[in-house]
Amino acid sequence: MALQRPKGTQDHLPEGSPKLSLDVKASAFAFVQDTARRVMERAGAEFIATPLFEEAELVRRGVGGSTDIVRKEMFTVYYFGDHGGYVLRPEGTASIVRAYLQNGLRQLPAPLKLWTHGPMFRAENVQKGRLRQFHQVDYEVLGSKDPLIDAESIWLMWEVVRELGLSGVRVKLGSIGDPADRETYNTYLQELLAAHVDRLSDDSKDRLGRNPMRILDSKSAGDQALIAELGVRPMLDFLGEEARAHFGAVQGYLSDWGVPFDLDPSIVRGLDYYRRTAWELHHEGVGAKSALGGGGRYDGLAAQLGGAEVPGIGWAFGIERLLLALEAEGVQLPAPEGPALFLAALDEENVGLAARIALEARSAARVEFAYRALKPGNAFREADRRRARYAAVIGSEEAAGGVLNVKSLATGAQRAVSVSELRTFLLEQA
Ligand code: AMP
Repeated sequence: MALQRPKGTQDHLPEGSPKLSLDVKASAFAFVQDTARRVMERAGAEFIATPLFEEAELVRRGVGGSTDIVRKEMFTVYYFGDHGGYVLRPEGTASIVRAYLQNGLRQLPAPLKLWTHGPMFRAENVQKGRLRQFHQVDYEVLGSKDPLIDAESIWLMWEVVRELGLSGVRVKLGSIGDPADRETYNTYLQELLAAHVDRLSDDSKDRLGRNPMRILDSKSAGDQALIAELGVRPMLDFLGEEARAHFGAVQGYLSDWGVPFDLDPSIVRGLDYYRRTAWELHHEGVGAKSALGGGGRYDGLAAQLGGAEVPGIGWAFGIERLLLALEAEGVQLPAPEGPALFLAALDEENVGLAARIALEARSAARVEFAYRALKPGNAFREADRRRARYAAVIGSEEAAGGVLNVKSLATGAQRAVSVSELRTFLLEQA
């Protein structure tokens, strides 16, 4: 059997692993996740967790039956007696809105801010930053249409970027208006493009009938050349009065708060339940076609899933893509900490005692111990290798007296600490 992980997946590895690049370093992954969590929790977001697999129909409705994700990229879950009714989730929003509706979360004070993180699955063509199992942090706000919520949501993404220390990120902002605006725009596109069908790619020919807006998103160079040549007007020109006022308010808040953004007419979300604000964050280190993260308002989604009308908005970052951006910018992440204290016995009869002292001290800090007796030189070398802050050895003298000589590995300074005071000592160092 080949020891080979499936294509499009990654192992996230511990410190000191051979050939450890930042994008597969578990501590960097945790740093990104913790940073995002801190930012979202400071905004009042509550954690929610949903299953990794869901009913295929939920995902079909939630993501859209006409999207590549649903048509080509689903991992179907087969198990005994129930074939194909479930899929591995490709994103988080549909599950969170399902959980919100199913569990009566409407009774909680609105707007309700929720966040989650975890693996997502899409059977994509694998390339840099495009995996089959990747990880998102996901933020959703349910129960408000206020443009202030849109602006706050975008601000939070910007705050994550800032706290990570990234400088080369650009926010691309758009609005896709209300359903009636989109209908007008789609009619405009159909009329304009109908005369040039023969020049469209096959995918776009197909979209012209069903979902013309998505032609603007086409990856085909021919389609893009045609769009440029015809001088196709952007969706933004077609916003109705209310959507225009909403979009103006969002931009006003962002400008006031110092979040830089570029208006980008190419941001399109073709599905019916998307409303108004849509945005993406981009970074050169990830590639021009791939976003670091993105979000949008989806006031029609809850009803589309069969629930009540509940307005919502949300975003997701791809953790692996944030790691690629950090790597590209050479951002120095904080070095992962080792134990506060490393204890080693000098002789076999004190190994159990050293272990007991370490186990008891763990309620105060991370404490590790040696599983066999070590000579003093080896004990301190081992402590150093584990990046410990302090180290102490326990021989017959320490065992009898109940006092440890605790050595700082940074300065070499030693200090006598009685075993009964060890927890207090460790808490003071924190
Ligand atoms: P989406 O749900 O498609 O809007 O994606 C949200 C974010 O998830 C993107 O901006 C990426 O950061 C990340 N993402 C989406 N698909 C992939 C993938 N196949 N591999 C890695 N990250 C992805």
